[in-house]
Amino acid sequence: MPASVPTRASAPLRPPALCLPPLDTPWDDFTGHYPTVAEAVTAAQAAGALSCFYYDDFGEYENCIRATPQGAVYEVTLYPRMQLRDLVVAGWLGMDDPVRSEESLKRGLADLVPAHLRHPAIEATVRPSTSCVPRIGWTQRLPLEDLRTWEDVRLAEKDLPLMDLSRITEGRPDGAPYSSALPMEVFDLFRSHGADVFACAGCGMAITDRHPHWPGIWTSTEREYGPCCSRLERQGSLQRIGHVLTKRDARPNQALAGTETSVPCGQCGAPVTDQHPDWPGVWVTRGGYNSPVCAVPGNVGDDAKEYDLVDCVYPHTPGGMSGPADEAIRAALRGGYFKRWQ
Ligand SMILES: [Zn+2]
Ligand SMILES: [Zn+2]
Repeated sequence: MPASVPTRASAPLRPPALCLPPLDTPWDDFTGHYPTVAEAVTAAQAAGALSCFYYDDFGEYENCIRATPQGAVYEVTLYPRMQLRDLVVAGWLGMDDPVRSEESLKRGLADLVPAHLRHPAIEATVRPSTSCVPRIGWTQRLPLEDLRTWEDVRLAEKDLPLMDLSRITEGRPDGAPYSSALPMEVFDLFRSHGADVFACAGCGMAITDRHPHWPGIWTSTEREYGPCCSRLERQGSLQRIGHVLTKRDARPNQALAGTETSVPCGQCGAPVTDQHPDWPGVWVTRGGYNSPVCAVPGNVGDDAKEYDLVDCVYPHTPGGMSGPADEAIRAALRGGYFKRWQ
C-alpha cells in the first residue's frame, strides 16, 4: 500500500457531521397554523387582517392577509434595517409631535426609493408596532383571488417589484455595499421632509439626545455602542467617548485623576464612577474601556418585538439608586434578553 494513502487506523479523526433540523421560521408556523390560503382568508375576514413578521438574509418583512371590500389581498411590507432603521428610530424619538414625526419619516422613506425602482403600487406605510416607536416601511399588495396555495403566493411574491427594494433597506440608495455609516445625503433627504435627524460628526451614526435610557446624552439606537462613539476605537483605543454633533466638539479623550470615588453597579457589580471627565454625570467603569454600557439587549425571541424594541444598550446604575432605564432593565431581565457586557 503506498505510504501516501492513509489507512483507516491512521486517518485523522473527524468530528461527526452535525445534522440539525432547520428551525421553523415564523412563516412556517403561520402556514402550519393556516394550512390553506382559503383558511387564512376566512380567519382574516373574521379578524380584519392576519400578519406574520419575519426576516431573511435580504430584509425584514411583514406578510399580511387583509380583508378589504374588494376581496382579500396579500400585503408584503419591507422594513428598513441596520443604520437606516437606527435613523428612523432616533428621528422618531427626537421629535415631539408624533403625527409630524411619522409623516416626515414616511415621506423620507418614500423619497429614498431610487427613481428607477419607483412603482405606483409601492407606498410607504405605518404598521402597528409592539412598542412606542412606529413600524414604518414600504408596502405592496397582491389580489389573492387567483392564488390557491401558499406556493402560488410565494411565487407571486417573488415577482413583486417591492423585492427590488431590499438593497436600499440599509439606507444606501446607490446600492453601494454595507458601510457602518449612512451617506450624509440620506440625513439631508429626511431633513428636507421635516424630520429632525442628526448624525455624529465622529462616526456618522444617527443619534438622538432623547433616548429614554439616556436622556440628554447623544445616543445611537443601535444595540452595541449606544452613547459610545467608535472614532477612538478606529485608532486602536479601548477608551469609550461620546458622540459629537460637530467636529469642534471632539476634544481629546481624558483620563481619570485617580481620586474619583466609585461604587458598585447594582446590575453588573463593576465599580463605576460618575466623575470621569469624558462622561460627567454618567456612570462609567473605572479604567479599561471607561464604558457607560452595562449590558446590551440579547435575543428577544420574537422577530416582531425584536424589530420594534426601543432598548439600545443599558446604563450602569449603582445599587440602591434609580435611573431612567430601570423599567426597561426590569423588563429585559424578566424576558431574559438582558445580556451582560463586561
Ligand atoms: Zn459617534
Ligand atoms: Zn453595570
